[in-house]
Amino acid sequence: MYKTELIQAGHGDCIWIEYGEESGPIHRILIDGGTSGTYRKVKERIEALPDADRHFDLLVITHIDADHIGGVLKLFEDDELSITFDDIWFNGYQHLTDLETLGAKQGEALTDHLEKPGVNWNKAFAGKASRVDNSGNFTPVVLPGGMCLTLLSPTQKELAELKPKWIEEAQKAGLDPEKRLEDTEDTDTRPSGLEALGGELPDVNELADTETITDSSKANGSSIAFIAEFAGKRVLFSGDAHGPVLIEAIEQYCPDGKALDIDMFKTPHHGSDANVSTELLKRLNCPRYLISTNGAYFKHPDRIAVSRIIKYGGDNPQLYFNYLSKYNDVWAEQTLKDEHKYSAYFPDDSDTSICIEL
Ligand SMILES: [Zn+2]
Repeated sequence: MYKTELIQAGHGDCIWIEYGEESGPIHRILIDGGTSGTYRKVKERIEALPDADRHFDLLVITHIDADHIGGVLKLFEDDELSITFDDIWFNGYQHLTDLETLGAKQGEALTDHLEKPGVNWNKAFAGKASRVDNSGNFTPVVLPGGMCLTLLSPTQKELAELKPKWIEEAQKAGLDPEKRLEDTEDTDTRPSGLEALGGELPDVNELADTETITDSSKANGSSIAFIAEFAGKRVLFSGDAHGPVLIEAIEQYCPDGKALDIDMFKTPHHGSDANVSTELLKRLNCPRYLISTNGAYFKHPDRIAVSRIIKYGGDNPQLYFNYLSKYNDVWAEQTLKDEHKYSAYFPDDSDTSICIEL
């Protein structure tokens, strides 16, 4: 059993993974916690578990942006849940260069929680950074139950580049408790779907071939991204990682120049065209694509990114969205699906996630 659930996390990510043998215990991984405003959804999900099952083999906090850590901060502050984690992967200030010891971190709420006694922080890396090995060694981390995780991002370079901006980015991102983004509802009142496009269907071929303007966010570039393999099924979880970083890692991981075979790809940065490049898609052999966002703030997913997946994401790609919004509902148009041969899946109105079992 290998289930991936994209919990509705506003414009962010909150990914609940369950895996295990049919007759054995269920193992769990949580990747990010969404925004602080959507924390209640992951809280409800945890409360639905019996007390004895409120344990995760791993929590990954991919990077410091508020749409990924806001819910995690609330989770750590929530004394009602009594939840435990075998290991927590997060790159704090002291991980940005190997030489640094603890620095200007006062007020960084997440680090304060991770430094509490009994918390395993980057245990799989002996307390050092969760990052790709400098030597290009892709030895996987094996979790209880047999899940194998192979890191593809960040490298030491992306972490070092974040360092000069850490304080500024950390405050902007929400590590300063005074500055957390609470509201994640989309307030854009423009019309949706075809109406927004004046009744015209998007030109998928033209959009797909739009030149990529690469994401320059240092925080996004520091995202922890990895292949998670269990029972022969592989999923690439990419946080908000930069396309060129993933491409370089894939080229080293698959040195024969072949595409990386995966069963599913959590697209980076909520389907931003700055991260979902044609070059990246061409390095993958993948039938399923996950996009996590309600479109608030950044109007993700970009139509260019979705067009690239449809054109360059293999035969009959399957798109999975965790919201139906005015930024993605056009992809439900049957005419587009018939013409470009793809499938699109959205949650029902009453759902708070979309779940895919491999
Ligand atoms: Zn994000």
